[in-house]
Amino acid sequence: MAASEKIQGIFAGVDVGSLASKSVIIRDGEIAGFGLIPSGLNSEESGLNALAAALESAGLERSDISHIVSTGYGRISASYASKTVTEITCHAKGANYLFPNARTIIDIGGQDCKAIRVNGDGSVADFAMNDKCAAGTGRFLEVMAGLFKVSLSELGDLSLKADAVVPMSSTCTVFVESETISLLARGEKPHNIQAGIHHAIANRIAGLFSRVGIQSDVYFSGGVAKNKGMRKALEEVLKVNIVEPYFDPQLTGALGAAVLAQAIAVKEAKKGRQQESSAIQSAA
Ligand code: ADP
Repeated sequence: MAASEKIQGIFAGVDVGSLASKSVIIRDGEIAGFGLIPSGLNSEESGLNALAAALESAGLERSDISHIVSTGYGRISASYASKTVTEITCHAKGANYLFPNARTIIDIGGQDCKAIRVNGDGSVADFAMNDKCAAGTGRFLEVMAGLFKVSLSELGDLSLKADAVVPMSSTCTVFVESETISLLARGEKPHNIQAGIHHAIANRIAGLFSRVGIQSDVYFSGGVAKNKGMRKALEEVLKVNIVEPYFDPQLTGALGAAVLAQAIAVKEAKKGRQQESSAIQSAA
């Protein structure tokens, strides 16, 4: 059951990411629908298309939504939103909705990765991020999947078949790519190299946590969280258990944005009631 209060109304969150645009709708405190589409060149259009997909899955119309919060890489181009909020805040709120006991979030998206520590109320206690290079991101895995000529989800599953992890001497995408080619030429087992690739990303994430610290429960969000090999590598390198997701982890940021849209409505209603009571008091 969600941590969020049972608040009447329909709210939407839209997360326009570098690769995927996501939207989640909350109706009376419960998840009512979601949309997930590839991001196009136009961020505004991508967000609106994700929202339209979420509305369709919920059987709702745009006019049914009272508040929308946007987040993600393309959040600035969102004239449809009541407010724009950073991804870090949204991932923390989304994780808190799904797992109120989550205190640490590992978020790996298409082009960045983040280590977030979260308080019991879903607010951010501390964070560290890497958005400067492809190492430790979905982009890195995409390059490696291309090298092995497999799909992204296959790469993770194949790495689970390893009987040993081949350590990589670097976490840089370009170096790992050439190192992989030499390791294959030397006759190393592909599964063991694939496990090494996932471990290289996990080591990069461990670097982010050296400053932020890790506390249980640990939640893994973002599109890369669907990769089982990545999850296992993180558990091994960080020496933690990651909670089992029951809702698509790629939608965590959009879910958090919807939770924040709901919070705006609650704040507005409270302000309205306060103004009403002071108007009554001054009239008396
Ligand atoms: P962004 O917000 O930057 O668009 P997302 O959090 O949506 O990023 O994640 C996109 C990444 O998710 C892609 O780079 C891809 O590597 C990964 N991804 C998406 N679906 C899967 C899947 N089924 N298996 C493995 N990885 C996936």
